[in-house]
Amino acid sequence: MTSVASNSNSAPSELGTVAPADAAFPADAVNTVVHRLRRTFDTGRTGSARWRERQLDALSRLLSENEKEIQAALATDLGRPAADAWLADIAAVHLEIKTARRNLKKWMSETKVRLPLSQLPGVGRIRREPLGVVLIIGPWNYPFYLTLGPLVGALAAGNCAVIKPSEYAAASSALLAQLVPRYMDADAVEVVEGSVPETAAVIDQRVDHIFFTGSPAVGQRIMAAAAPHLTPVTLELGGKSPVIVTADADIEVAARRIIWAKLMNSGQTCIAPDYVLVAKSIAPALINAMTDTLARFRPGPDTALPILDRRQFDRVVALLANHGGTVVSGGGVDESAATIEPTIILDPSVTAPVMQEEIFGPVLPVIPVDTLDHAIDFIRAREKPLAVYLFSPSRRVANRVIAETSSGGVVVNHIGLHCMAPNLPFGGVGNSGMGSYHGRWGFETFSHRKSLVSTKTRPDLPILYPPVTALKERILRLFF
Ligand code: NAD
Repeated sequence: MTSVASNSNSAPSELGTVAPADAAFPADAVNTVVHRLRRTFDTGRTGSARWRERQLDALSRLLSENEKEIQAALATDLGRPAADAWLADIAAVHLEIKTARRNLKKWMSETKVRLPLSQLPGVGRIRREPLGVVLIIGPWNYPFYLTLGPLVGALAAGNCAVIKPSEYAAASSALLAQLVPRYMDADAVEVVEGSVPETAAVIDQRVDHIFFTGSPAVGQRIMAAAAPHLTPVTLELGGKSPVIVTADADIEVAARRIIWAKLMNSGQTCIAPDYVLVAKSIAPALINAMTDTLARFRPGPDTALPILDRRQFDRVVALLANHGGTVVSGGGVDESAATIEPTIILDPSVTAPVMQEEIFGPVLPVIPVDTLDHAIDFIRAREKPLAVYLFSPSRRVANRVIAETSSGGVVVNHIGLHCMAPNLPFGGVGNSGMGSYHGRWGFETFSHRKSLVSTKTRPDLPILYPPVTALKERILRLFF
């Protein structure tokens, strides 16, 4: 292993160094990518509204003209059906682009703010400035949405961007590397394929912001690697998102929505319902309704779902062992095909790995609870999740869950909808992440809010200047 030459004066990051011989992306190109993009940024061209609009339009064309290729890459990487690929990885980015395109001028315009009396006749304004060259690191589960989605905010805010897709979605990563330079300003947006060494090499060139989507464990490493450069980070992480179902909930609808969301991408979704806390009195009815729904949504004989790769398959299969509960539906695994049946486990041990780790697969633990207090206590005793879901007709119950639990977002009587609403900030809190994006929030994440005050040179009241007299102090106290 040889060390990467860094453009920064700071210490190298914690992630390690690039290995030129076996790197997926030419080492020379990796080691100079930030420098190259920064030269573009320094020309100032990415700051104009026109450039931003053109890039957003180009991104839209990239998606529309390559739908089939994107769907094929997702089928290769994840075995994802074409309709799901369109909805989650194509339509979702289009929605972000449309929102940014419609609001760009408004977002870019300076905001006037009132200044305190003591500063009049000055004028206060906030200007949003691009940060510079930003790095977007994506996971494998939605390889287009979770790289190009953040890119919308980065471009709308006038930045250059390096995209580092996950090496575990290799076909999608290769397609991104092929398409991005064909559609986008190639001196401003670059895809760097690879894994840890390539990521380290980019971070060590001192980017202006890192937008990371992935696991909390890797998020820690990214933050540590960013620290020597004081590079700010947005971390979009995972966790165990619980669903509470109260005794008076609409059981049929709750079952349909929970199963719909759990099956999506074989449960490999950050906002998937991880486990269910259900009122004891309706637990059997909810389990029956979810089992019926599974049979309707995935009619046999082959109900099993594809898992990304052998590593992920083994991880999820390990969660199916020693859970201490009862498998009430599914449970089958196919070693050779690396598929797992949608599985419901009733009342697993809370210390079992399936209740300790993010499941990220088609396995749903269901834990009956005596009261709403128990459900809330259960959630509060654990890491703050990305989402809390509640099925209940009661506004009072909803208000209690919203107020008494902490999570990235809450959805009442549905699953995951907050992720598809571009006017809502999307992000985690605590262990599920820091910072947010989508719509305006993505634009804000990739912008610096610069405070501006302009005032006149006259009158130039001597009150601020020394020597401070008792009279001056009395007057100052009136104004501040
Ligand atoms: P991951 O953390 O293993 O990898 C994410 C990215 O980090 C990949 O590009 C990978 O190449 C890179 N990476 C991995 N190890 C690294 C290291 N040591 N140094 C530098 N870079 C490294 O995550 P994953 O397995 O791809 O995705 C699953 C996780 O992502 C789950 O926890 C899921 O909940 C989370 N996720 C969160 C969101 C969200 O929006 N909050 C969305 C999707 C996935």
